Amino acid sequence: MKKVNIVLLGPPGSGKGSQAEILEKKFNLKKISVGDILRLEIKKKTKLGYTIKNIIDKGKLIDSSLAIKIVKSHIENRKNNLLFDGFPRDLYEAKTLDKLISITHVFFLTIPKKLIIKRLSNRYECYCGMVYNLLTKKPKHDLTCDICKKRLYRRADDSPEAIKKRLVVYKKETLPVIKYYKGRIAKIDGAKNINYVFNIIKNHINKRNS
Ligand SMILES: [Zn+2]
Repeated sequence: MKKVNIVLLGPPGSGKGSQAEILEKKFNLKKISVGDILRLEIKKKTKLGYTIKNIIDKGKLIDSSLAIKIVKSHIENRKNNLLFDGFPRDLYEAKTLDKLISITHVFFLTIPKKLIIKRLSNRYECYCGMVYNLLTKKPKHDLTCDICKKRLYRRADDSPEAIKKRLVVYKKETLPVIKYYKGRIAKIDGAKNINYVFNIIKNHINKRNS
């Protein structure tokens, strides 16, 4: 396979996380999800985790300089086969990322607001990192993790109130990023099922590699 660097964009609930998980495995990529990294810090109760918990619980985004610092430290010295999930979130981050590495694919998952709220209010997570959705990816037994059998929980920022705030912030910050990537972005209907979306992404990647 030729070298790729992929950016996955889309509002919360658009299925970015699910696609990132599949892409990471099928194409052997290193996934960099700022959201996941932050949530891990919170879970580990680090000083950084405590600071960001306050920000995220309010439905706000962490500032760009911190996000970039985190991304840089996870890129390390790699130049290729990176997958960015939910980053860049604003114009400054997008421009900075272009200076760090060369992005080969940008995928933008779109989804109507009504469906975002429906999806996110059905999302449950486990402490082991598994993510479930009562609509699309149900756990086998009630609200128990299939893997580690722990009780699932909902993210604090998945409450309807926090979701609405996140969407306002998302629109303001991320729409300029979509414009910035114009000409090298593939827009995909995120309301479709996981496999459908994955096949479209896969075809884009394989087209470049053939
Ligand atoms: Zn689990």
